[in-house]
Amino acid sequence: MRKLRCAWLVVVLGAASALAQSGPAQSSSIRTSGFTVVETLAVDATEAPRKVFHARLTIPATEGDFVLLYPKWIPGEHGPTGPVVDTAGIYFRANGEALKWHRDPVDMYAYHVEVPAGVTSIDATLDYLSPVEMPGNFSAGSSATEKLAVLSWNWMVLYPKGYGSDEIGVKASLKLPDNWKWGSVLPHSSHVGGTVEFALASLTTLVDSPVLMGQYMKKVALQAGKSPAHELDMAADSMAALQILPQQTQAFDNLVAEAGALYGARHYREYRFLLTLSDHVAHFGLEHHESNDSRVGEGYLTDSSLWTLGAALLPHEYTHSWNGKYRRPAGLATPEFEAPMDGNLLWVYEGLTEYFGYVLATRSGLQTPEQWRELLAGIAMTYAHRPGRKWRSLEDTATAAQSLYEAPMAFSNYRRSVDFYDEGALLWLEADTIIRQNSGGKKTMDDFAHLFYGGHNTAPEVKTYTFDDVVNALNQVQPYDWRGFLNDRVMKVAAHAPLGGITNSGWKVVYTDQPNTMAKLREQEGRNFDATASVGLVLNKDGEVVDAIEDGIAAKNGIGPGMIIIAVNGRKYSQEFLLAALREAQSSRQPIQLLVENTEYYRTVSLDYFDGPRHPHLVRDSSKPDLLSDIFGPKVTMLPAPVPGAE
Ligand SMILES: [Zn+2]
Repeated sequence: MRKLRCAWLVVVLGAASALAQSGPAQSSSIRTSGFTVVETLAVDATEAPRKVFHARLTIPATEGDFVLLYPKWIPGEHGPTGPVVDTAGIYFRANGEALKWHRDPVDMYAYHVEVPAGVTSIDATLDYLSPVEMPGNFSAGSSATEKLAVLSWNWMVLYPKGYGSDEIGVKASLKLPDNWKWGSVLPHSSHVGGTVEFALASLTTLVDSPVLMGQYMKKVALQAGKSPAHELDMAADSMAALQILPQQTQAFDNLVAEAGALYGARHYREYRFLLTLSDHVAHFGLEHHESNDSRVGEGYLTDSSLWTLGAALLPHEYTHSWNGKYRRPAGLATPEFEAPMDGNLLWVYEGLTEYFGYVLATRSGLQTPEQWRELLAGIAMTYAHRPGRKWRSLEDTATAAQSLYEAPMAFSNYRRSVDFYDEGALLWLEADTIIRQNSGGKKTMDDFAHLFYGGHNTAPEVKTYTFDDVVNALNQVQPYDWRGFLNDRVMKVAAHAPLGGITNSGWKVVYTDQPNTMAKLREQEGRNFDATASVGLVLNKDGEVVDAIEDGIAAKNGIGPGMIIIAVNGRKYSQEFLLAALREAQSSRQPIQLLVENTEYYRTVSLDYFDGPRHPHLVRDSSKPDLLSDIFGPKVTMLPAPVPGAE
């Protein structure tokens, strides 16, 4: 998953925790028959634009107190994010008679149905109310517009307690709105009169196979003619938004080829990139084994800024097919959706995916090496100004992921956030440079990728791993004190950001008054202005303080999140005037005067800050070889021509 958010209180029930502790087999393969339980699920999406989805289920039942579960822990979201609050119209029937039911008093995701003697199957109906407010939480967030929808099957599934999701087979069907098309990797048997009949699949596979649907859709074959098949399925709020340039198609085509070269084998029957282009759905990416659900702005293909800023999203989600789905931390490989997940190794699951995502984005030509270096400089700045790292280890941000996804931006420098993503990328870059240096350039993290994620081409299967497995694999690639390295970087609190990967690779972080090009693109898109390295503030476009670095000069002078900078040196706030004031103070040596509003009170704050704007960049250190350029160079493809405006 990529982008921020979510979780709430977890209640662990005896049976579920027993299942969780037993865990799945070390290697479980995809199942298409031989299920212990077989349900049917008919979804009617014809009212998707009105944000109501209807579902009818038939479920084998046993008499007495029969417990049905609604999926709580959604794979890839690393938290108990199942949108039970958005279900309504729940009825249970047997032989046409209504059945009594009640919700479990401590597990909001469990329904107790009173099943009469002799009844072996019940019918259930429920509606899913898709969120109206933007953006909402990942796959439980905004997912439907007038012209398109992304359907996550877990919204509308109930399953009997006591079974693993591989033991339950679901025969699903989907009724589409008139004239809508659809895309999903879930195998289907027919598509007649607007209704798609899917093949029997395990509950695991069903929940892992969302459906993208819409009036305006375009499908592009990638690495056409090669096996397994790859396809980019796009739906947008307008036909014009689907105008993909040849060089954009080539970059996606390169992505598939470069990923194959990086990992050495693929673990899916076929692969679909499901890409939604809309300004009215939540923006994030969610990984699946054979597809990914990635959602960007409507202008992604046609606005060069959006294209550049979104470069790493698809490479990240695609990488998860190997790192996260095929190889999975043991604590995240739960047998079904009620068992709590342990996110302790998310610095591998998400951190290494973030690193390989950046690597593949650059190798495939989705972003340029210059853009990657500017991004990397920004990441270095963020984690070098993170007072929270003095109290909280990177590992603790992973363990606490289920609460940190929901944490606000306010005080994120001190609380820390889901830092295991980008600080994880920094630490895996450092590991890559250590392997390269110690092997005399013979080995790289690509060798680790081959060893850990490669092998033979297979259908989806799960091979779990532990911390020791990661250490052992690194040692197999290149002997080194990897246990000590990871202990220092991950388990211990470290006052300084792990910037060794940058310096080892022949580059260094500098701060100048020249804008960081990637930060500038974000600001042009109306996102935050990041003055972390100068006055220690992150501001939104209206001057509201999103965060104040805890030991920065602004915080030391009484400025905190939620306050609004009304004026700078007597003039109404704008980012431009603040930058001008920083430059002016540098030459005049006069303090900067900020008029600050806080809970209806106004106050003038005087900052003795004279170092001017400080924007992060990487510059070459010519005393060392340039390893970054080698890491990011394409291995098996040719870079596409630049997208106009995105050079
Ligand atoms: Zn991810």
